[in-house]
Amino acid sequence: MSRFFGLMASASVFCLLASFAVFAQEATAPALSLADLDALIEQDKATTPKLDQQGVVDLIALVSFLALAVVSFIKKNTTLKYATMVIAIAYMGFVKGNLVSVVHIFALMEWSFPLFQYNVAWYVLMLFTVISTVLWGRLYCGRICAFGSLTQLMDKVLPSKWRVELPTWLDQRAIYVKYGVLVFVLGYFFVTKDNAIYRYVEPFWMFTLSGSNVMWALLAVLLLTTVFIRNFYCRYLCIVGAGLALLSNLTVFGIKRWQQCNTCKICENACEWGAIKGPKISITECVRCDDCEILYNDEDRCPHWLMLKKTAAKLEASKAP
Ligand code: SF4
Ligand code: SF4
Ligand code: SF4
Repeated sequence: MSRFFGLMASASVFCLLASFAVFAQEATAPALSLADLDALIEQDKATTPKLDQQGVVDLIALVSFLALAVVSFIKKNTTLKYATMVIAIAYMGFVKGNLVSVVHIFALMEWSFPLFQYNVAWYVLMLFTVISTVLWGRLYCGRICAFGSLTQLMDKVLPSKWRVELPTWLDQRAIYVKYGVLVFVLGYFFVTKDNAIYRYVEPFWMFTLSGSNVMWALLAVLLLTTVFIRNFYCRYLCIVGAGLALLSNLTVFGIKRWQQCNTCKICENACEWGAIKGPKISITECVRCDDCEILYNDEDRCPHWLMLKKTAAKLEASKAP
């Protein structure tokens, strides 16, 4: 059985490599010249109103969605969290195709950003992602990203007996693969200035429903692997996840721990991102999903509170006549 899952994981990594191969093959298509692109941009500027009615509606929808995400996080409300995820998939994914992508890291490398007046919603999402990561960690991954929301909801609805946990020694090495992919793709872009590679290293195109047969087949393998190994792409392969993981080293408000966490395994077993190892939480792998923080405050399950209750009961009993 474990051989089968090893095979699935290998198949997904193969998918990524195959995607590179497909990309290399398709990259030979004739490209627009810079002059053509400039002309298109000028034409677009001339025909696009600065912030039209649709732009205002999009902005209000995005800000409302982000507010819901923050409220669900602050309140540790599971119902609101799942509502946020469903909206992330439906609205941010399928309706708007609004996900943070490696293309945005390319833009950062070139210090080349879209015009503010035409892309207010874009700036709001980018600023929110950076600021929320610095404040709390990878909140974007935990509930804003459409693909991450999809795989997390898959994990909730699929039978837990299908899940396979990679051995710790393998998991702890595999989490670094995404940094390798990040370095490779950024290096490729640095040398070639070709940003079309994003379609072959990220599955986010799926929300536009526009991929070649080969890309759909590779996506199917990736999602099938995710059925068995939870959040497979996010944990081991995602470039944006790797970038946000690096940024999350600056996180200001981490997750608190009790002294009892040194020996208790409840939160470690509950963490579907493999971010807890013993008393330590890896902020780079954590996506602030709330699961351990809800347990942290659970007076009926967390040993910290149970011990306090026990001590209080003993004290009460000793005072009794
Ligand atoms: S790791 Fe990547 S795909 Fe996963 S939630 Fe984060 S940005 Fe989205
Ligand atoms: S249940 Fe409580 S004591 Fe146990 S790991 Fe979680 S927060 Fe720590
Ligand atoms: S369970 Fe805790 S450590 Fe794990 S991802 Fe969720 S918030 Fe982070």
